[in-house]
Amino acid sequence: MVVGIPLRKERTALPRETEIVFHAGLRQIGGTVVEVRYGEARLLFDFGSAYRPAQAFAEAQFFPDGQKPSLRHLLLLRRLPTLDGVYRRQDLLLPLRIDGSGYSKDDASPSPTPFGREERSPVPYEEWSGETAVFISHFHLDHTSGLPWLHPKVPVYTSEESLRVWKALALSGLAEEGAPDDHETVVPMPEERNFRIGDIRFWVLSVDHNVPGASALFLETPDLRLVYSGDLRLHGSNPQKTARFVAEARSFRPDLLLLEGTSLPPEREEEALRRAPTFESALAKRLADVAADVRGPVLVHTYVRDAERLLLYVNLAKTLGRKALLGPKAARYLFALTGRRDFAVLRLPDGEAEEARLLPLPREIPRVDLADLVASPQEFFVHVPCTYPALPLDLAGTEGVFFHSDGMPYGPHNPAYGPWREAIEASGFRYELLHANGHAVPDHLFQIVRAIAPKRLVPVHTYNPERYAEIFPHTFLPEHRVPYGPKDIVP
Ligand SMILES: [Zn+2]
Ligand SMILES: [Zn+2]
Repeated sequence: MVVGIPLRKERTALPRETEIVFHAGLRQIGGTVVEVRYGEARLLFDFGSAYRPAQAFAEAQFFPDGQKPSLRHLLLLRRLPTLDGVYRRQDLLLPLRIDGSGYSKDDASPSPTPFGREERSPVPYEEWSGETAVFISHFHLDHTSGLPWLHPKVPVYTSEESLRVWKALALSGLAEEGAPDDHETVVPMPEERNFRIGDIRFWVLSVDHNVPGASALFLETPDLRLVYSGDLRLHGSNPQKTARFVAEARSFRPDLLLLEGTSLPPEREEEALRRAPTFESALAKRLADVAADVRGPVLVHTYVRDAERLLLYVNLAKTLGRKALLGPKAARYLFALTGRRDFAVLRLPDGEAEEARLLPLPREIPRVDLADLVASPQEFFVHVPCTYPALPLDLAGTEGVFFHSDGMPYGPHNPAYGPWREAIEASGFRYELLHANGHAVPDHLFQIVRAIAPKRLVPVHTYNPERYAEIFPHTFLPEHRVPYGPKDIVP
């Protein structure tokens, strides 16, 4: 194991070698923000916030009743990195008063110095001279939630499929990261076509993950070759994508492989290290087998962005002789992304005003009122709407099954999980836990490292980076916010 010790504490104004800075995302799941800089050009990859259930509770203490934190708040809450040259000047100013809806920007004043424990406030985009671009590996919020705070002039690069996902999310009211139109330049990247900012050349290859469009990044500067995996797995519906990525990454002979390690367990959980994955195919079979014998409604609770799952549910409903029913936003997302219209959409009480702002759905997609569903629940195969997660409580006593399949709260590490599950079971639902998540199991991760054989492995997107270091002596564990040169990292 190599522990990251900075050799150069001061950043030079114009480095003639590559600088790599891990602004955020080490020892946490998500919120990876890495900067690769060469001369005046720099590429930042991924721009979200870490997934931490406790964070939401902490933020509710500061921002009750739906108040929204400002950018300055998010920086102090460590939800976004303190980063020069990417944020709008107006968002970095100090708001002076609170009105009913939250802070007002009308009376903004210059930020005081120092900024919290920092020596200074971040330099706004408007006062930054270098060239910056942001790459997004896939559209999960832990990789994208900072986008609304990015200055609109900073170009955003992402795979072609990811841009389709982003547009579909925006049309269906699901894009908490804002819309592509909020940015002046969004560059869709066809696979393997090279892009360049300054002397940084980069391209993408798709990988399998539980959202369409997920891609790994390949990056080359005059003195560094780097691969960033994004989030990936080998047990999904498209393992050949990840396998192809691994083969290409191997022949690229990277100096650095930044690899996710979501599934790596802490030291005391040895058996989790050898955990076998639940394959998507096995999940589909189990779902079909159990649902075939259910007299009441079939409910599935899955994170809405997993479009492949939504398709699986629509197809499975047909096989079971049931009507597939999606919530208003999931229905629009699936329609916008795939053009499919062979499902029904649930009309929620008081939902009309909200729906009027979303993509109109074609007439042949039937509307089902909540009252219709309550009257004959046994006819339906329902994806629990993300805008109405209380649906199982409304269907209490209907002898249904509730498949908890990769929807929030994921499990016991979230304090909401226990009481939430109790309420579903108290409603008379048979609760079936059936996760097949988007992240490779440890054994697959280790296979990937061995196959790619990078000069250095850098764990990201994991609570337990030491797990890699135990097995791979060439693992490099960097520190946050330290500029490293290739000579600091690569042997
Ligand atoms: Zn992630
Ligand atoms: Zn992800």
